[in-house]
Amino acid sequence: MTSLVDGYLSHITSACAADLSGAVADYIPELAQVDPEGYGLSLCVHDGHIYSRGDSSVEFTIQSISKPLTYALALSRLGYVQVDTKIGVEPSGEAFNEISVDDRLRPKNPMINAGAILTASMLLPPVRDVAPQTVDEIFDELVAFYSACAGRQLSLDPAVYGSEAATGARNRAIAYMLDSFGVIDTDPEAALDLYYRQCSLRVTTDDLAVIGCTIANGGVNPRTGRQVLNQEVAQRVLSVMTTCGMYDGAGDWVSSVGLPAKSGVGGGILAILPGQLGIGVYSPRLDRHGNSVRGIDTCRHLSTDLGLHMFNLT
Ligand code: GLN
Repeated sequence: MTSLVDGYLSHITSACAADLSGAVADYIPELAQVDPEGYGLSLCVHDGHIYSRGDSSVEFTIQSISKPLTYALALSRLGYVQVDTKIGVEPSGEAFNEISVDDRLRPKNPMINAGAILTASMLLPPVRDVAPQTVDEIFDELVAFYSACAGRQLSLDPAVYGSEAATGARNRAIAYMLDSFGVIDTDPEAALDLYYRQCSLRVTTDDLAVIGCTIANGGVNPRTGRQVLNQEVAQRVLSVMTTCGMYDGAGDWVSSVGLPAKSGVGGGILAILPGQLGIGVYSPRLDRHGNSVRGIDTCRHLSTDLGLHMFNLT
């Protein structure tokens, strides 16, 4: 069985490797300098077994794939009512860094930057001057949660974090827009700092596959057996990943792949088959939406060949 799966994964990775289209993110030097050829694929099945191919142990920054995890943490800590008052669950149909809110002044969903920065802000104390040690403590809790989902200790890429913080004019504009609407209850700089740090955590495709399988399993990490988030939260996270996880490419993705997913500009994609499977793919060349070209192609192959589409009727 194992060699059958391995053979199949080799087959689809060789097929997808030929596509050299897209471009690596270049808004910070650390991302511009990654090897564009990097390509890894991991699948974690419900008993915790991981099938991997290619650069599955190469670390890259999680970037926006952090958004569903911080959203899960905020829901677990604060509950739905409080989170939903501030952040919607509607697909935006817009770019990930769009400066937009709905008619109740809420970011449209937690998968775009506006929603993710606000989600991070909700983990901080409601004071205007948050001490740097407080951000450190909350970040430690956030890393502990992500690590529990991945089943191993994750760490920060300090160079990426430094560059994200130094060049984040657009994200600052988003945070201060939200602040001007009176929807940020904390220090906007502290919220941005926490957001930049969460984006700068290093993961591998093996980690993404385990994180995905943990969510697929209703919050139980299949490798450690630990319940790290509750079932209701996992269900909500899967829902917003389905409708909003691939930004303005979400409709295309749902039609052709049909799995809850989240991409990041670091080149990673996390895709999930509820109840069954977590998939992690890495390939840093991105399409115009900021989604990994080969990552999408790989998931499309997996979905078609294995009948993973959530509305598969065959
Ligand atoms: N750090 C990036 C940003 O905030 C993450 C964006 C992404 O992965 N789509 O702009």
